[in-house]
Amino acid sequence: MSERWLLRGATVVTCDDELGDLPSADVLIEGGKIAAIGPGLSVSDARVLELEGKLVMPGLVDTHRHTWQTPLRALGADWTVMDYLAAVRVKLSPLFRPEDILVANHAGALEALDAGITTLVDYSHCIYSPDHADAAIDGLEAAGGRALFAYGYAAGPTPSPDLPDHRARIRDAERLRRSRLASDDRLVRMGVALTEMQVPWEVSVDEIRSARALGVPITLHCSAWPVNKSEVQLMAAEGLLGADMLYVHCTFSSEDDLRAIRDSGGSISATPETELQMGMGFPVVGRALCAGVRWSLGCDVVSSNGGDMFTAMRLAMQAERGAENARVGLPSSLPLKAARMLRATTTDAAEAIGLGRVVGSLRPGKDADLVVLSADALNLTPLNRPREAVVMQAHAGNVETVIVRGVPVKLGGVLVGQDLALLRRRLVASRDALVERAGGVASLLGEVHRLEESWDMGGGKSATGDAGASA
Ligand SMILES: [Zn+2]
Repeated sequence: MSERWLLRGATVVTCDDELGDLPSADVLIEGGKIAAIGPGLSVSDARVLELEGKLVMPGLVDTHRHTWQTPLRALGADWTVMDYLAAVRVKLSPLFRPEDILVANHAGALEALDAGITTLVDYSHCIYSPDHADAAIDGLEAAGGRALFAYGYAAGPTPSPDLPDHRARIRDAERLRRSRLASDDRLVRMGVALTEMQVPWEVSVDEIRSARALGVPITLHCSAWPVNKSEVQLMAAEGLLGADMLYVHCTFSSEDDLRAIRDSGGSISATPETELQMGMGFPVVGRALCAGVRWSLGCDVVSSNGGDMFTAMRLAMQAERGAENARVGLPSSLPLKAARMLRATTTDAAEAIGLGRVVGSLRPGKDADLVVLSADALNLTPLNRPREAVVMQAHAGNVETVIVRGVPVKLGGVLVGQDLALLRRRLVASRDALVERAGGVASLLGEVHRLEESWDMGGGKSATGDAGASA
């Protein structure tokens, strides 16, 4: 049960167009919602956090994360996308047991909360049985944050006896939608993550139509390399585009694709760290901005890179600025502004998954998902331009307090109600067991050459289908 809280005397970055930034204001939280925002609120019976010198902002929203990969942290620090596919999607993924998924999602979602991410899209494409799916949800719920659990329809490299075919996976998603994920008011909601479209096209159509019948957001890896046929154009031809779709990567999407996504009300998630590292093209941020399509950011995989949005924001912005500056020479201005980047990871990201009226900005009536930053730390002092400082200088270590729907999940730097020592032991044990079953770290890249021969890389390498998988 959420209490009544008064957050007093902070710089409040609302990310709301009308309210703007407030230099010294209070935030009152009642029944899980923001009840009031303003200077000197008169409240007598609330728990008070004195926040002079601190900064309050909306919780960040990560729109693309494979949370199940948490035990694989940094194994892929030097991997290309083919290395990643061979090691993670082909070799390691089938070795995950439900208990591995549970601890991975619990620890990964907590890592996100600890860094100020109050909502994440869990692109859960390591589901080999109904128990795997339930364990993924259990892990997200144990962390206490808000999440879109996107049921991954992608099959593993070999058929699973518990979910032997495409239809069985769709039936399992229907089971969850009928039972524990029936409500869209819970912190963990249901979504669907499509199989990459190298499957027969009829299967992709069936997946999309099934997801629509469930009434849930849909996300998909899209044009992460120069595919032979654009997923967006394939879907447009069938009338399947929609505002419920979140397209991930789009690094090789054409301008026509971007306009089609925009006109259908869909959104894009760019994942700058994985895209820049693995060879998945250049982040689409600048082109999406020009096309007027809604875009946001994701951390994607901690098996390779970092899991916090401060890094993702800064990397996406400076990469885009660097590319544009290299193109034009001495620039007269910078088209992508820091405040625009913060909008992408808060209000726009919430809109992308249908939560724009619920979270993403601080405004009376919205759910109280917010973060307190130590703006009195040296790296944020003096706080001259609050929104810009969040993007340009803040880091996860500045996240002191995190509140989700009025309930503190991190308070004064400490995650609330979590046995972290036990969680760490379980995570390490899971990692050990996974690596042992894989035959050791040295064996992880054994399938790379076979993959390079069989997977469609469009204009890149081989071409046996319509599109390929991405991170
Ligand atoms: Zn991905």
